[in-house]
Amino acid sequence: MASNKFKRMLNRELSHLSETSRSGNQVSEYISSTFLDKQHEVDLTPSPLKEQPMSLILGVRKLGLPHSSSLSSASLPRLGVPSPREDELAQELDDLNKWSFNIFRVAEMSINRPLSCVMYAIFQERQLLKTFRIPVDTFMTYVMTLEDHYHGNVAYHNSLHAADVTQSVHVLLSSPALHGVFTDLEILAALFAAAIHDVDHPGVSNQFLINTNSELALMYNDSSVLENHHLAVGFKLLQEPSCDIFQNLPKKQRQSLRKLIIDMVLATDMSKHMTLLADLKTMVETKKVTSSGVLLLDQYTEHIQVLRNMVHCADLSNPTKPLAIYRLWTERIMEEFFRQGDKEREQGIEISPMCDKHTASVEKSQVGFIDYIAHPLWETWADLVHPDAQELLDTLEDNREWYLSTVPQSPSPPPDRHLQHRPRFQFSMEDLENGHSHAYHNQNGGLRRGEEVEEGEEAGGTKIRRTTMENVIVVERR
Ligand code: AMP
Ligand code: MG
Ligand code: ZN
Repeated sequence: MASNKFKRMLNRELSHLSETSRSGNQVSEYISSTFLDKQHEVDLTPSPLKEQPMSLILGVRKLGLPHSSSLSSASLPRLGVPSPREDELAQELDDLNKWSFNIFRVAEMSINRPLSCVMYAIFQERQLLKTFRIPVDTFMTYVMTLEDHYHGNVAYHNSLHAADVTQSVHVLLSSPALHGVFTDLEILAALFAAAIHDVDHPGVSNQFLINTNSELALMYNDSSVLENHHLAVGFKLLQEPSCDIFQNLPKKQRQSLRKLIIDMVLATDMSKHMTLLADLKTMVETKKVTSSGVLLLDQYTEHIQVLRNMVHCADLSNPTKPLAIYRLWTERIMEEFFRQGDKEREQGIEISPMCDKHTASVEKSQVGFIDYIAHPLWETWADLVHPDAQELLDTLEDNREWYLSTVPQSPSPPPDRHLQHRPRFQFSMEDLENGHSHAYHNQNGGLRRGEEVEEGEEAGGTKIRRTTMENVIVVERR
């Protein structure tokens, strides 16, 4: 499987990074424990079949539905949610279709109902209530109940993040290269998947839940624990008639919708990242477009493949947003990681990578996260929808430089060379398969893809650092 090759490649890169310094080691541990699925490499025994009745889904509050009685279509506020600053909120929502949309301001002006507000705006904009005959009061009851099931006291995985991912998916769906590609049902599924994708997140990772023998890990037999749970909660909340936004869909459509949503949310498990990326690469290498530049996709499998990558991209979109917004996300995710680290310290268990507030380097972790995860993914997405994502790719690269420039430099040891020199690498299916050594175009270097070079040779201002990863040469700017 190509993804195994990618994993080996990344593993080697990470082991090099871990040798550079203590913080390099921590960044490397974080990436490897979060984004590489090790479970299946060592243990090939299938996990026991789950036969537990799911009469009770943890975390779902008794459905008293406080919102249903107060929401008739006649009394619904203009923007779906009450706001003491309705005009300003409307002004913010004018940017709904832009990547630079400021969800933080929306939260501020909607009395902390960013998810309900953004879902209402997007469903209006796309006329989805009409298309799927969703009664507006049912819709608002569902989204507000959903929003209530995100934890307000969790620093990152709260309804603001869900709203951000939903709005990001909304923008990605509008990419000109995808114009007319997806059916209304697929669009509905992608937006719904984004809205529920982290619901009832407790603010700790899958590994933490497994290590602490939590009820959730028990329920899902340690596999994609959180993602299974988000889905179960998201669907469970539909069961109340006043919440069932899909009540007017024919049975077959409901079934297809459910299948699509499950697929997309399970794909947000970060341990699936490499497999997703490998499959996306394959698709890019063989992509076909119409004369007007619209992507040509075969039916179901290719559609769902793009959609699951789209939601995954939106989930990893923080570093592609305007710097001021990206920095707010970083603060939040680090706060959540540190709280997990505090819990681990209290319980006397090993502190997870990046979760130790006494040793973690926030700036380096962002540079590492961009270099090894976000950039390779977004670059591939940008290839798929070329040239639609160029601007966000530029922002990503600028943000990377900004974080690098803020890495605190200690006076004695030399600066972290590996980070300074931007170990950008690219994977290519073609080259993995045909066994050739190639150097790859580096955005700021001079090598063009396909140019054959020897290790150590210099070309166009770019020095070949070393040959790694079987057939692929890693290039590094001098
Ligand atoms: P999710 O937990 O579903 O939101 O998936 C996203 C995961 O990607 C997070 O839990 C982090 O592990 C990682 N991630 C996303 N954004 C960042 C970021 N800005 N810095 C570090 N890791 C991130
Ligand atoms: Mg998640
Ligand atoms: Zn998420």
